[in-house]
Amino acid sequence: MSEADIELTGSQKSTIDSLLKGEAPIAPPAWLRARSVVDHESEVERAKADPDAFWAEKADALHWETKWTEVTRFDLPHHKWFVGGRLNATVSCIDRHVYSDRRNKAALIWVSEDGDERTYTYNRLYREVNRFANALRAMDVGRGDRVVIYMPLVPEGIITMLACARIGAIHSVVYAGMGTQALKARIEDAGAKVVVCSDATFRRGKRIELKPAVDEAVRDLTQVEAVIVHRRGSKPGDAAHEFESEREYDWYDVQAAHSIHCPPEVVDSEHPLFILYTSGTTGKPKGVVHATGGYMTGVNYLSRAFYQIEDRDIYWSTSDIGWVVGHSFIVYGPLSIGATVLVREGVPDYPTPDVTWELCERFGVNLMFTAPTALRMWMSHGADAVDKYDLTRLRLVACAGEPLNPEAHRWAQEHLVGQSDGMVVDNWWQTEIAGPVLGTLPSFEARMGKVGKTMPGVFASVVDKDGQPVEANSGGRLVIERPLPYMLRTVWNDDDRYQEYWSQIQVDGQPVYTAGDVAVQDEDGWFAVLGRMDDVMNVAGHRIGTADVEGSLLRHRDVAESAVVGLPDEVKGERIKAFVVLKSGVDVGAGLHASLRDHVREDLGPIATPSEIEIRDSLPKTRSGKIVRRLLRAESLGEDPGDLSTLAD
Ligand code: AMP
Repeated sequence: MSEADIELTGSQKSTIDSLLKGEAPIAPPAWLRARSVVDHESEVERAKADPDAFWAEKADALHWETKWTEVTRFDLPHHKWFVGGRLNATVSCIDRHVYSDRRNKAALIWVSEDGDERTYTYNRLYREVNRFANALRAMDVGRGDRVVIYMPLVPEGIITMLACARIGAIHSVVYAGMGTQALKARIEDAGAKVVVCSDATFRRGKRIELKPAVDEAVRDLTQVEAVIVHRRGSKPGDAAHEFESEREYDWYDVQAAHSIHCPPEVVDSEHPLFILYTSGTTGKPKGVVHATGGYMTGVNYLSRAFYQIEDRDIYWSTSDIGWVVGHSFIVYGPLSIGATVLVREGVPDYPTPDVTWELCERFGVNLMFTAPTALRMWMSHGADAVDKYDLTRLRLVACAGEPLNPEAHRWAQEHLVGQSDGMVVDNWWQTEIAGPVLGTLPSFEARMGKVGKTMPGVFASVVDKDGQPVEANSGGRLVIERPLPYMLRTVWNDDDRYQEYWSQIQVDGQPVYTAGDVAVQDEDGWFAVLGRMDDVMNVAGHRIGTADVEGSLLRHRDVAESAVVGLPDEVKGERIKAFVVLKSGVDVGAGLHASLRDHVREDLGPIATPSEIEIRDSLPKTRSGKIVRRLLRAESLGEDPGDLSTLAD
């Protein structure tokens, strides 16, 4: 055991102190424990004893056209799963249910912010996905082609994702709240030949136009052959639309003439299912690549084993298709097990603070996936907005994306699952590992402030920079020692950047995956994840690189230098503060702050917009010119910045 060798921030130190005080844990209610889909302990043991046999058993739950010949082939940092296996993800997600008693079961229930509702049975989903897949094929989109999807949480977005998978095209969903620059960078990096977008979304009662950002993003991208626009308000059968650009098409028009049957493109297990961009330490987004067979195996297993989704349940994920949660636990995981998924476009406290609970009562929601930010927001509206509804069927609320603070945890335990005597559970994962890695299951107690234990098949530890395990309860680097099937295969167009995940630390002479998080583990194996080690912020559960925001500010005509830090925020976990040095001679007008904020909002989107901007004459830097963000952060919080001599270069 070695001493921790990382510099913890003030708030990370105080988190460890409060963890050591050991608040009372929450024991799983006996009935839920008895109903738990897997017995954690025995699954962990089985996976340890023979990981390949364990994962082969899980992969068997999918439909394979050709069975694999080898479960794993590791040549670290590269790893392959179910080698020789061939499949199409949509056959497991749709076809096999259509040819079963689930044919007319609701696959998707969609609710809009203004109360519109649509239900797609598996049978209907099959028809819609296949028809749109045929339309894409007719536009010469096929195996390996990239399609960028810039759509809000509407059924057409989910149908577009599945239609791409149907024909072996690789989708890359860009969250529809991202700005022009962020969208353009992703279309360009992915080399997308088609962009599918909605013309607008609705938020807090307002129509927000999305099409202008797409027009701007593709204007000079000659690689884009077609932009297919889903127009809110247009329906199948509406008269053909006129467009200004030759490369624009209507989402409904393009499919009108096509069949509802589209033979699935059977692909290799390692064929990329999707690319999803996330922030890193440079301003260039990272295109995380997930491979079909391994990814589907992970999300299928975890939908049952972690989220406990059973056939009769209504499961609601409050995430969005723009994030990895939306891919894994709105679309591919739940559909692959034949679940009924409820989704809603819009924010969870509009038009009223209690809209979420009214919907839970109306649909009889059994399981919910949400984020700690949402819990804190609901908490701020008071328990009355929840308690007046019948939530007796809501038995499990799973939270991920950012640390779940004990206050929010206890509040949710009392008010969200109190009526059912259910459980609130935390889980840790990331865009790169597309399903729970650490988490709490109803088969063991939830320890306040701790995410939980390793999931079956996961070998994780907390180590120092030399790969030595750190003492219990002291901070270190979270590493994963063995690849998982649902772990990224590479970074699109940048395998060197991928290799960095595996080249930072070795444990027992073997490379391990560095997650980029600071964590602690207690004597009994419960982990707590305290935050990122790199310059990546977590705002309301969304990862935003300081470099992205700094780069955007630098594109403003008046800005000479910028630095960005994340500061603690009661609701969002972190908020963004920017420090800006103006170009000499710039007159500071009264509109400067608003102009800077508007600029970032348009460039990157509302989630990346700084909530505070400070204009300074200079920024603190090391001798070699690196900005010392730690000092800026400590100054803003009135904390001691720690030993700055280590930052000399
Ligand atoms: P993303 O790739 O956007 O899903 O962000 C992943 C990052 O969010 C992780 O690397 C963590 O820093 C953080 N994170 C996710 N889940 C948790 C959790 N349950 N507790 C603490 N941090 C989390």
